[in-house]
Amino acid sequence: MAIHLYKNKWANRATVIYWLLLIYVVAALIWWFIALNLQNRQMTEYKLNLLNRDDGAYLLKEAKIFNERDRMTRAYISEGLVFLSVIGVGAIFLYGAIIRQMRIQRQQQNFMMAITHELKTPISIARLNMETLQKHALDDAKKEKILKSSLQEINRLNALTGNILVSAQLEGGSYRFNKEELDFSQVVADCCQDFMNRFPNRPWKNDLEAGLFISGDPLLMPILVNNLIENAVKYSPPEASVSVVLKTEGQQGVLEVRDEGPGIPKKEQKRIFKKFYRVGNEDTRTAKGTGLGLYLCRKITQDHNMRLQVSDNQPRGSIFTVRFNLSEI
Ligand code: ATP
Ligand code: MG
Repeated sequence: MAIHLYKNKWANRATVIYWLLLIYVVAALIWWFIALNLQNRQMTEYKLNLLNRDDGAYLLKEAKIFNERDRMTRAYISEGLVFLSVIGVGAIFLYGAIIRQMRIQRQQQNFMMAITHELKTPISIARLNMETLQKHALDDAKKEKILKSSLQEINRLNALTGNILVSAQLEGGSYRFNKEELDFSQVVADCCQDFMNRFPNRPWKNDLEAGLFISGDPLLMPILVNNLIENAVKYSPPEASVSVVLKTEGQQGVLEVRDEGPGIPKKEQKRIFKKFYRVGNEDTRTAKGTGLGLYLCRKITQDHNMRLQVSDNQPRGSIFTVRFNLSEI
């Protein structure tokens, strides 16, 4: 909270300084124009005073002086306009950069808060479960339930730390791609099985074609599939069905993850792939998360020459589609 207030203060101060500087620069420009124009008029008067009325070419010389005056005024106006537009373009860029910077800071701060919570919760639950097992003699059914809940929390922790580590490595360039022939059908089937074990009450409608091979990284592919399925589960009510479809379309393979949740508004559909981006705000969101999942999915698909898209499901929900080249074996 203290950090939040500090950042807000910093942001307000930066905005005030920005506007003051902008007003100062524009005022200086206007002042420059007025001063030069005044000088121009004084010079004209001075030149006119030097003319001799008895001179035969008086009218001609007078017209020349007026022409010169008007030419200078036009030059000042056009120079002023050029300066003004350069300042305007610069100001727009600077303003955009400040706004972007503030948004990134806010998202990073949300990320830090989310991650602290997301890391601590599974650890606390698993610890409590272990302590319960240690202290009490429980019957087998209860033991099974506690172990299952601990395993679920540890799986969550595993997925989360996987996301964080891999995105840090991919970004830092330290991740070494290890592309090899992969049975993608098997990868998707394993991920689906894992989710079906974790959420047995969810109506699953999976349809997976066997024998689709790709050239891919064996560590990154499950991260991609898991993140898409996890979102479908996380952002739809527990009784809504989730469907994972793997099929061939022409020469390509297609993976579709469909859910029947509230869906994603059109204008948000482009933003959700940004790092740390989450729809809505901290006060209204109920599902926990860090905003790294889809960023990572997009990065992985780009690095594998795959295409990741989001569209609306009918009558409700979202469809995440990955299109990829099949490898010939
Ligand atoms: P993380 O995956 O890191 O735990 P997250 O799920 O919030 O956190 P992303 O997976 O990157 O992050 O998703 C970004 C945002 O897109 C989500 O916060 C959510 O608002 C929206 N979103 C993603 N998938 C769906 C979906 N299937 N239905 C509705 N909204 C979705
Ligand atoms: Mg997610």
